Amino acid sequence: MRLGPHERKGEGTTWIRPKGVLLDDPDWHMATNYLVQIENGTITTVVSDEKNIKDDVIELRDDYVVPGLVDLHAHLEPGQPSGNRSTPVQGPLHHAEILLQAGITTVRDVGSPMDLLTTRDVLNGSPSRYPRVYMAGRPMTVAHGHGSDIGYIVQDPKNITPIMDKLRRDGVDLVKVMATAGGAHGGQPQFGLESLKRIVGSAHKFGLQVAAHAHSSEGIQRCILAGVDTIEHASFKEGSELVWNQAVAESLARSGITAVFTPVNHRKAKTNNDVQRMRDIEGQWRHLHAMGVTIAVGTDVGVSVMRFEDSLVYAMETLEHAGIPTIAILNAVWHKGARALGLEGKIGSIRVGARADLIGVQTDPLVTVRAFRHVTWVMRDGVKSKGD
Ligand SMILES: [Zn+2]
Repeated sequence: MRLGPHERKGEGTTWIRPKGVLLDDPDWHMATNYLVQIENGTITTVVSDEKNIKDDVIELRDDYVVPGLVDLHAHLEPGQPSGNRSTPVQGPLHHAEILLQAGITTVRDVGSPMDLLTTRDVLNGSPSRYPRVYMAGRPMTVAHGHGSDIGYIVQDPKNITPIMDKLRRDGVDLVKVMATAGGAHGGQPQFGLESLKRIVGSAHKFGLQVAAHAHSSEGIQRCILAGVDTIEHASFKEGSELVWNQAVAESLARSGITAVFTPVNHRKAKTNNDVQRMRDIEGQWRHLHAMGVTIAVGTDVGVSVMRFEDSLVYAMETLEHAGIPTIAILNAVWHKGARALGLEGKIGSIRVGARADLIGVQTDPLVTVRAFRHVTWVMRDGVKSKGD
């Protein structure tokens, strides 16, 4: 995916002198006494402190500066049919604003009514207020299927190419396909393998990636065989049960396809069974991580009952609670998130040539991802939106 040429870049040269800078060369480590130079929205120098720098220096003595966060699975538009909305534009913009304040500098919106696409240029063009966004627009689904209230309906495999052409003309950044039913509706496949292959082939021909919503093992397996780019949820749900499938998990690991974790909200857990189920979900992700599955992080905020204020840190805390090492979670949210967007080295990293998407936190996130509960300072594309 490209970085939009329409983005207004931060202007001039700025230096940042924080308490620590989180570097990833070759491994994540907190470097103290480092300065970061930003020119026109890009990181141009990362250097150990030279006291004689007298240019414009932002002093952040109490902050660790780390890369801005990436949410690969959000819905800026609250989940309701498009005919039913009272505030068609303010809602998504307001949500986007909350996300940036929480430290999310890049967000992938995986499914929304078409009119949300008209707000994308506003979002991308305003780094002082909003995160950078990539939008899937209307998802591809089947009649009465998951997301059919806002999606393009595939009646017949012959419809796939015309629908893809429509999506391309709509100007989407990627394609979302509802490969299975929703988690609350059993998660069984909605598309045959041949249809999925046709969707992927046709999207890739236009240079568009495919993000596939999939719950059941059979649905996940078809997505792997069809060669989608990311598999959303990957919950191994069969009907109302979680059923681990070792063969499909192995095939997911071998494929290298990114599985996007989306959390279940613990506030919904009322009974011992609910709590046990959450532990089981965590166990599955711990297992997927141990098997070498490429994991990135999403939230499903806007559709699930997650809050825009803290959904991503909540997702990361869930993975930490599952026993996945903190450093692997940071990799998931930064490197894997960037890689899934085709922006490796451009976002999710503090290095020369990367976009100046930086956030300040007061505790070292290498110790715990809870550090992101308190984001004190935010910059996107070299433009500051929060903090002194
Ligand atoms: Zn979703």
